[in-house]
Amino acid sequence: MEGRKTKRESLPLIPLRGLSVFPYMVLHFDVGREKSIHALEEAMVNDQLIFLTTQKEAETDLPTAEDFYQVGTVAKIKQMLKLPGDAIRVLVEGISRARIVKLLQEDPFFQAEVEEEIFGEEIKIDKELEALMRAVLDAFENYVAISNRISPEILMSVTTIEAPGRLADVIASHMILKIEQKQEILEAFHPKERLEVLYRFLLREIEILEIEREINAKVKRQINKLQKEYYLKEQLKAIQEELGDYGGIDDEGEAYRERIQKAKLPKKVEEKVLKEVDRLSRLAPGSAEGSVIRTYVDWILDLPWNKQTKDQLDIQRAKAILDEDHYGLKRVKERILEYLAIRQLAKDMKGPIICLVGPPGVGKTSIAKSIARSLNRNFVRMSLGGVRDEAEIRGHRRTYIGAIPGRIISAIKEAGSKNPVFLFDEIDKLSSDFRGDPAAALLETLDPEQNKEFTDHYLEVPFDLSKVMFITTANSLGTIPRPLLDRMEVIEVSGYTEEEKVVIAQKYLLPKQIKEHALKPENLQISEQTIRDIINSYTRESGVRNLERQIATICRKAARRMLEEKAKVVRVNPNNLKNYLGIPRFRYDKAQEKNEVGIATGLAWTVVGGDTLSIEVTTMKGNGKLVLTGQLGDVMKESARAGISYIRSKMEELKLPEDFYQTLDIHIHIPEGAIPKDGPSAGITMATAVISALTNIPIHKNVAMTGEITLRGRVLPVGGIKEKVLAANRAGIKKVLLPVENQKDIEEIPENIRRKLEIVFVEHMDQVLEHALVRKEECHEN
Ligand code: ADP
Repeated sequence: MEGRKTKRESLPLIPLRGLSVFPYMVLHFDVGREKSIHALEEAMVNDQLIFLTTQKEAETDLPTAEDFYQVGTVAKIKQMLKLPGDAIRVLVEGISRARIVKLLQEDPFFQAEVEEEIFGEEIKIDKELEALMRAVLDAFENYVAISNRISPEILMSVTTIEAPGRLADVIASHMILKIEQKQEILEAFHPKERLEVLYRFLLREIEILEIEREINAKVKRQINKLQKEYYLKEQLKAIQEELGDYGGIDDEGEAYRERIQKAKLPKKVEEKVLKEVDRLSRLAPGSAEGSVIRTYVDWILDLPWNKQTKDQLDIQRAKAILDEDHYGLKRVKERILEYLAIRQLAKDMKGPIICLVGPPGVGKTSIAKSIARSLNRNFVRMSLGGVRDEAEIRGHRRTYIGAIPGRIISAIKEAGSKNPVFLFDEIDKLSSDFRGDPAAALLETLDPEQNKEFTDHYLEVPFDLSKVMFITTANSLGTIPRPLLDRMEVIEVSGYTEEEKVVIAQKYLLPKQIKEHALKPENLQISEQTIRDIINSYTRESGVRNLERQIATICRKAARRMLEEKAKVVRVNPNNLKNYLGIPRFRYDKAQEKNEVGIATGLAWTVVGGDTLSIEVTTMKGNGKLVLTGQLGDVMKESARAGISYIRSKMEELKLPEDFYQTLDIHIHIPEGAIPKDGPSAGITMATAVISALTNIPIHKNVAMTGEITLRGRVLPVGGIKEKVLAANRAGIKKVLLPVENQKDIEEIPENIRRKLEIVFVEHMDQVLEHALVRKEECHEN
């Protein structure tokens, strides 16, 4: 090869850790390992030449021949400095690259025969080499520019180098490269080859640096953007603060303003929301307060401030709808039609509010719905049962976190018009746990004088409720606060007879449930007797709510059977009813089996309707105590005492032992049954039982009675006549004794029942005894 000279010599060797030395390079390193120090000493006594090669792994402490590269640099030791400890700092200058030919010794230091390969400075620079040199220089320039780690002076000094091999070595010594890469350059003995390897590394490094630079720039841009946004936001805030009440520029605010304008709100309301929207515009985006304001403005905009349905005040139509939806209820329907007629005549007259009173499931809600339908108004319902907090009615102030309007305003929103029929359900339940202010809130709501300006704490602006038609329902009147009751027109909806229930089931409940369960009428057949059995054995109610539930259960099971067994028709009869509803739940008290002393049958009115009530009395030796046990209210006890007083006044006539109230204890017991709501009505029953017990005269088994008793034995009227008579009929009673003053109520009792029962009106206890006690000549009946 042109210009190539070789030279062999024997030199001490030092393996370097993580460091490569190129020819022409001046650098210092520290030597600490014993072997290396010995090598240094050996070099110093010769001509200060040493062979430097690099360890493949910097971590190896005691390297052997395999642990260092075979190509390294012959260097001249220029200076040595003893460091504290045993280490020595050496300054060397690289002279020429050489290859180990033979390792001469390993101890006490490495000694090797190396072969230098020298390409003279005079190597011919052809065009190709020239081009390569320029390319390398250009690339290095580029590298220096991007890397930022090499000073421009180095670039200057490099450009003056003319020898290609030297150029490569100098550039390589300045570059940041991996040991393996440096070694590759070192092992390229021919200058051209060396330049090529170097060029490859240069291009690669440039590429990597460029990618690095791009990544950096990107990260920086992102940081800058965030900073800019933050800065702009701060500025915007400052500007908005400066502008004060004059509002900012924002799309959301504009959108709201447009909606507000379209909504044509009452003036006061409009002013209020506009103010809120202005506040919203001024808030920093994403602030918590903003969402509170948004919810508020949305509420306002969602309320039907101007939306109103057009009333259809057509009495004929109303009648048709009421009849279509409900069976029977003749008097109730008439009362409602009268009420509607009055409203029609005097359109703006603030009439009283209807209160439908009756046991559950008699159709109160459904009547209210029909009224809404007949008037062509929307319908909303709000149950007052369990409401105990004024805030439930009037809402919470907006300062509460998560506040919303009260239930009235919520219901109005749901109704979607400002004149719906609004049903307050269970107004009697509210009164029991409702004290002070909340009741007042309800009063204000219902009062036509005040509800024009109904204020909800959340809304803060009044809403006009005067166009709403309020209807209330209650199970009983007893617990409704007086001032509320005074505003209402009470319409009683009493319970249904078995006959009525059968028709309601057949004509209304069954078709309704069949439809709701996606069945067809021909799919399900329930006989009339089956319906009667459901009524008597599975329900105990005045209304038809549970009846409807039981029918729904049958429909559900029938639907399942049709799917599972592919049956086309499901027939339910008294025999297989158990399969659908389980074992019967109720058994009505039947009349006593025989006439007995001390047992009288009374009639009671309970929340779920009428029932019979058997009262038992025994007497025993004692000192005149009156003992009461069983289901007894205070009122019942009083009427028991009234009965005893009457009896004492009649001792002679009744042929009672004169001192019975001193020598006998009287024990009154009411065995079972629901708690009667009208205590006094058991008065005559108790008196009869006591007299029977004292006189030992039995009572007719199929006579039942109801009535209050005075001290002198007068019989006073009581309530719930219809329910009571129905219950008597159900229990198989033949004769019913009622107070004479209840004669007016008899109309309510259906004809067919009146025909089956003997109803006797009594004025005085004497008459009661006459009908109830078994006369001597009748005794053979027993
Ligand atoms: P309430 O409000 O009195 O508790 P609902 O109005 O909820 O009772 O009535 C319960 C169910 O009985 C409803 O499905 C209703 O349609 C039905 N219902 C009640 N009375 C009648 C009736 N006279 N004619 C037809 N269906 C009735």
